[in-house]
Amino acid sequence: MSPDPTGRQPARPPYRPATVAVTSGRPPHVPDNPLNEPLTMASTYVAGGDVEYGRYGNPTWSAFEQALGDLEGGRALAFSSGLAAVSTILDLVGKDATVVAPRHAYLGSIGQMADLEARGRMRVVLVDVTDTDAVVKASQAAALVWLESPTNPALEVADIPAVVTAAHAAGAYVVVDNTFATPLLQQPLEMDADIVVHSATKFIAGHSDVLLGALATRDDELYDVLKKRRDMVGATPGTLETWLALRGLRTLHVRLERAQANAHELVRRLGEHPAVGEVRYPGFGAIVAVVLAGGAMAADLLTRKTTLWVHATSLGGVESTFERRRRWKTEPATIPDGLVRMSVGIEDVDDLWDDLATALDDLTLP
Ligand SMILES: *Cc1c(COP(=O)(O)O)cnc(C)c1O
Repeated sequence: MSPDPTGRQPARPPYRPATVAVTSGRPPHVPDNPLNEPLTMASTYVAGGDVEYGRYGNPTWSAFEQALGDLEGGRALAFSSGLAAVSTILDLVGKDATVVAPRHAYLGSIGQMADLEARGRMRVVLVDVTDTDAVVKASQAAALVWLESPTNPALEVADIPAVVTAAHAAGAYVVVDNTFATPLLQQPLEMDADIVVHSATKFIAGHSDVLLGALATRDDELYDVLKKRRDMVGATPGTLETWLALRGLRTLHVRLERAQANAHELVRRLGEHPAVGEVRYPGFGAIVAVVLAGGAMAADLLTRKTTLWVHATSLGGVESTFERRRRWKTEPATIPDGLVRMSVGIEDVDDLWDDLATALDDLTLP
């Protein structure tokens, strides 16, 4: 919660997260100020100030960064995409250093690590994040421990505080991809993680109309290094995207509350359906995975038989979407062939269920 030279409203510490989401990053309450930070389209600024050029800063970015930073409890930076933020963080790792990461982390993050390893830039050790002893053991020789919790799409949960303690004792940094939980359900910086990273494309923006990434840290030195790298390589966000993401962030708590309630109810009903072999749900959030008893064929059929649920990749929008993850050739073979990842939206839960149940009933007919 750093002071902002523009006088932008910081969230006051006693405010609870819902109030922070609504109020943080707004222009100061002075007559005729707009309530919302305007969309500032500018590639350059009048010389002599702190910003100078459009790659180094933008008031619309700052408003979004203030709000997200306040929610995560650190200083935030916006990026052109989640993977641009991931790449900027991985670039900090020294040559030949070891990075520990979850076997089932987001494919794009694992893909970047594999690419860097293939080019001799780092060593990567993939672990089962639910096996805390294994993660702790691997982190002894690591420079960076990458966590994602819950993981995409296996929905495994890591013991973040235990890993942070062990990793720090071994001199390693800890990064947590907080895309699935959002800062409303999990605050990794509060658990002493060094950096939290987001695909703001997902729940934060929340309307399936934006690609955006972000990170947050409490470490001023890390913040400076990461900002310098972002600005240097131009992994900077679009202004309109940042504005839309901030607009989405204002309702994150309300959207998540409804989506999570829908998810709880669907998990209960799905667990009783004979076409469903297994339901995976960490107990919080709005992402559910089901493994269909009929395997890949049943999963493909399901994604084609619904009318309300949309067959699409990505997640975290107001509308419910789902996909069979192994349709991607790059998905690890350890993800079941018949697994369908479901991003539960904010529609009426009975409509969501009726649509699913009709398609699932078709799969179980003799
Ligand atoms: C989508 C996603 C990313 C990548 O973000 P983009 O905005 O698509 O670049 C990273 N991590 C997780 C967990 C994701 O779901």
